[in-house]
Amino acid sequence: MDNRILTVTSPLLPDLVEFTDELRKIWDKRWITNNGEYHQRLEATLAEYLGVEYISLFTNGTLPLLTAFQALDIRDGEVITTPYSFVATTHAIWWNGLTPVFVDIDPKTGNIDPEKTEEAITERTRAILPVHVYGNPCDTKRIQEIADKHHLKIIYDAAHAFGVERDGKSILLDGDISTLSFHATKVFNTIEGGAMVVHSTEMKQRIDDLKNFGFHDEVTVVAPGINSKMDEIRAAYGLLNLRQVDDAIARRKEIVNRYRNSLRNVSGIRYFDDIEGIRHNYCYFPIYVDEEEFGMSRDTLYNIMREKGILGRRYFYPLISDFPIYSHLPSARPENLPNARKMADSVICLPLFPDMTEEDEERVLNCIV
Ligand SMILES: *Cc1c(COP(=O)(O)O)cnc(C)c1O
Repeated sequence: MDNRILTVTSPLLPDLVEFTDELRKIWDKRWITNNGEYHQRLEATLAEYLGVEYISLFTNGTLPLLTAFQALDIRDGEVITTPYSFVATTHAIWWNGLTPVFVDIDPKTGNIDPEKTEEAITERTRAILPVHVYGNPCDTKRIQEIADKHHLKIIYDAAHAFGVERDGKSILLDGDISTLSFHATKVFNTIEGGAMVVHSTEMKQRIDDLKNFGFHDEVTVVAPGINSKMDEIRAAYGLLNLRQVDDAIARRKEIVNRYRNSLRNVSGIRYFDDIEGIRHNYCYFPIYVDEEEFGMSRDTLYNIMREKGILGRRYFYPLISDFPIYSHLPSARPENLPNARKMADSVICLPLFPDMTEEDEERVLNCIV
């Protein structure tokens, strides 16, 4: 029996020989960071790949979230967000001295519920920070209507939405700002890395200043910016990875479809199907375990898998609103967030990465079917 540890994800790595060639060029040039040639090329290539006009690279996916509020001049008040995400989403609000207001999710998508979002708006609300969870697009049209009506900004945490399109258009074009993560665990990675997508030359310039301490030129500092520049080595790595990301997504799709076919008739197991008109990126394969119907709780399944060396992940458990730093907030009350709680207690993400084999997939399925 194969007892090799199977993790939920495994990074997409560039070809080592090709990467070494690029490193040699960087060594020869001795330009290793600060908007070098590779940085500029990765921005241009990503903009084209993603179908967006303005993108700024960052050193991870958390700092663009933090910087988004500064870029939009949001300095006080409340920000409506989802508790069903990675903790960095809410941390970005906290770091800006703003108050997070948690709103429940729509169980059909895992994303923030637009109607409950509108109900949570007060005179202190400044912005909405939704997440395209698992790369499922939010109801961006409805969220935009609500934001327009109440004069709010929208920042999308699009860490899961790399390459996701609706009707042939990038989902990153919605809202005022979208942020991406290129962490090793994501569909496209630069080891650590991230980006911000904006919609004007002026905003892109502002972002490029803010991520470089606020320097506009050698002697002008326009704001107390941060240092979140991507270096040349990771930009070169990213350019190589970008060439194989379409194949990686195609391979993910095959694996997901095998999971779906094998789990279709298992009672008590549910999963997201593809949505018509959406180009998915298959970043995760979350399954919802209905304890009563399946005859086993999500946590029991999680532990059985662990004993067999299969490290599924309970994304997203605990809810962000359950961490002690946030649980005192009025909006964190359990009765305010029943759908999010149910999902946090019922979902497990199965291993999914491009070089996963059929045997790996069989091992996972044998724990469930
Ligand atoms: C990964 C992730 C982040 C943070 O990105 P880092 O690159 O790890 O800083 C933020 N939000 C969500 C939803 C994520 O999944």
